[in-house]
Amino acid sequence: MSDPVTASPHSGLMAADDESAMRLAIAEARIAELAGEVPVGAVVVVEGIVVARGHNERERQTDPTAHAELIAIREAARALGSWRMENATLYVTLEPCPMCAGALVAARVGKLVFGAADPKAGACGSLYNLCADPRLNHELPVTPGVLADECGALLSEFFAALRATPEPGTAAQGIKPA
Ligand code: ZN
Repeated sequence: MSDPVTASPHSGLMAADDESAMRLAIAEARIAELAGEVPVGAVVVVEGIVVARGHNERERQTDPTAHAELIAIREAARALGSWRMENATLYVTLEPCPMCAGALVAARVGKLVFGAADPKAGACGSLYNLCADPRLNHELPVTPGVLADECGALLSEFFAALRATPEPGTAAQGIKPA
């Protein structure tokens, strides 16, 4: 098996505990926010070392599947040289949707840690729990609510700012305070 330290394009980043790993996921979410994307970020950690990072790039890639988790899982598979990641933990700022939870199962990810719950699309405890369904061929433990307030605030502030911005083509557009 390849050494995650030398294989990773992000070698040197350590995440000793759940909160420090989640802070790195939050940093990824902020990168998405700066690009005008819904701020969701993820990191994959193996034995305390970050092997992959990702943030939502749905707009930039014009790709409905470009969620933070999928980007991070793809990068982790390349870094680890394996599609199976039973010794990996995925940290993500928002509870994964059904698509991403399915990818966690497909990748045999060892553990999931998420920040804010998603009552509208969450598939790891809120609407479903695809991580703990014995009918599927892999189950993984889930730790919810790590830095949940901070992760949730990123999203609520993003959507509040979006609502405050006039839509293009409306009368308010172009009228800005001097
Ligand atoms: Zn997703």
